[in-house]
Amino acid sequence: RSNTEKFEFQAEVSRLMDIIINSLYSNKDIFLRELISNASDALDKIRFLSLTDKEVLGEGDNTKLDIFIKLDKEKKILSIRDRGIGMTKEDLIKNLGTIAKSGTSAFVEKMQTGGDLNLIGQFGVGFYSVYLVADYVEVISKHNDDKQYVWESKADGAFAISEDTWNEPLGRGTEIRLHLRDEAKEYLEEDKLKELVKKYSEFINFPIYLWASKEVDVEVPSDEEESPDEEETSESSPSEEEETEEDASEKKPKTKTVKETTYDWEVLNDMKAIWLRNPKDVSEEEYTKFYHTLAKDFGDEKPLAWSHFTAEGDVEFKALLFVPPKAPHDLYESYYNTHKSNLKLYVRRVFISDEVDELLPKYLNFLKGLVDSDTLPLNVSREMLQQHSSLKTIKKKLIRKALDMIRRIADEDPDEFHNKDKKDSEKESEVNEKKGQYTKFWNEFGKSIKLGIIEDAHNRNRLAKLLRFESTKSDGKLASLDEYISRMKPGQKDIFYITGTNKEQLEKSPFLERLTKKNYEVIFFTDPVDEYLMQYLMDYEDKKFQNVSKEGVKLGKDSKLKDLKESFKELTNWWKDALSSENVDSVKISNRLDNTPCVVVTSKYGWSANMEKIMQSQSL
Ligand code: ADP
Ligand code: MG
Repeated sequence: RSNTEKFEFQAEVSRLMDIIINSLYSNKDIFLRELISNASDALDKIRFLSLTDKEVLGEGDNTKLDIFIKLDKEKKILSIRDRGIGMTKEDLIKNLGTIAKSGTSAFVEKMQTGGDLNLIGQFGVGFYSVYLVADYVEVISKHNDDKQYVWESKADGAFAISEDTWNEPLGRGTEIRLHLRDEAKEYLEEDKLKELVKKYSEFINFPIYLWASKEVDVEVPSDEEESPDEEETSESSPSEEEETEEDASEKKPKTKTVKETTYDWEVLNDMKAIWLRNPKDVSEEEYTKFYHTLAKDFGDEKPLAWSHFTAEGDVEFKALLFVPPKAPHDLYESYYNTHKSNLKLYVRRVFISDEVDELLPKYLNFLKGLVDSDTLPLNVSREMLQQHSSLKTIKKKLIRKALDMIRRIADEDPDEFHNKDKKDSEKESEVNEKKGQYTKFWNEFGKSIKLGIIEDAHNRNRLAKLLRFESTKSDGKLASLDEYISRMKPGQKDIFYITGTNKEQLEKSPFLERLTKKNYEVIFFTDPVDEYLMQYLMDYEDKKFQNVSKEGVKLGKDSKLKDLKESFKELTNWWKDALSSENVDSVKISNRLDNTPCVVVTSKYGWSANMEKIMQSQSL
């Protein structure tokens, strides 16, 4: 072809393709859902544009937003076509030749040492999974702003792009043709494709059609020859009776039924938006499956929790929120620089955007889900939508529901402190399923809760309830503030805590000696973020927090203390002079120690020694 231009893949893409094409990864099925998900994204995009400009959809068949799958058994081609936004020549070069998303190189690295290919969709490189099953791929695409082009590659480090002068015009959209490898013949079986769509793509919001065969019964004229015997008899001496019989058969010509194969488009998915259904009618399995599609998280694990609700009042919307079973790889990577909400915003069932930051605060970034609003206007730009006053109300309700949902994980977990007294439940299996779920949640997302306490003054108390930590009494497990309070000694006013790099080191701290001896519980805070946390978390349920390495630790009344202070007055004064006021504020007699004779304490509002260390390491 004369109009073909050759390009090399970005080195990283090339590496990824090598890995994929040589992969022994057994679950090759994933390519189909990646292609369907791309088709669905492309359809979402054109539908969104059509909200403000109807013209973009064109007319006739072009207005139909569907996905078509077709098989050519002879040529071993599987093709998927959509009437989505399509790609210009530039788009083809950029989207199917380079990797833009961050974190992908980490993924490629992981894949080289046997990572899970199942996660490919989350890393923005799902398209390349086609090379699990194909050795040659053609992408034919027509965007409204450009001519029709063909992108093709045999995964040999290069791809070619040509203006398409030989295929049928698509009108608009994309057709992807996979020339399947011999080992991937199973993907030419209709049943296999039906099974895969059911499994992975059932909740795609556009109809997915398969060009499927159907056996039908057809009546055809019988070409059976009459037996020579009969013919002979009829010819030789036809009796009266026989003649009448023959007459009858002439009136009713002989036919027979044969099986014939016909083809037609068969719709494979249900398409009914799950969030519009009554929660009572949606099964746990359906929620799980929907979560997998939504989050592109196709592990075996169920989401830790979900919340499906309708908000009524001034601002009406439906929402479905999920707590994923695992934190994504980059959750806290650039927490302070970027804000990436994982909620999809729909307005009256039309997908608008998955980049509306105003839906959730940063610290709830780890949630997945969607919001479908009836109140927001459809025909405005995303930017204008971001400003819309309804979003504030939606956000407020979403936060409340999200925190309720998280609290429910703890409420239903039989391992949690407040469930200790509950009888072994009637539903044994269900209880077992919830066992340890909150610890799991905490290990994945605990930091987000802490960031929430720092950032969200309004919900601070609700978030503090979700806080977990180890303490001198938690016995290697996690405890909550409520649990701490339940164990407080009579007369104890403050919640004691200590900060440091790890529990083992803190356990040896002289600051604890006396407290533990007197049976006071002290919380260990060992995450660097805890120092910041405790600058914001001043009190909980009317109890103040007291860092035991700072001044102000009160351990109830000690009648001897006053006398001791008096008799050691000279020593403390001498000591203070010796150290000079540049080094210490004061030197005091206290009852906080046991074996250790003296200890350096930080002033109430100063940085703790641990904080000094953190600040030092950050400024290096
Ligand atoms: P992701 O979908 O996460 O962006 P992919 O590797 O699956 O990553 O796809 C890469 C890009 O290729 C998409 O972002 C999109 O721009 C483009 N693309 C892929 N398939 C289609 C399609 N059917 N129609 C339009 N664009 C597509
Ligand atoms: Mg994709």
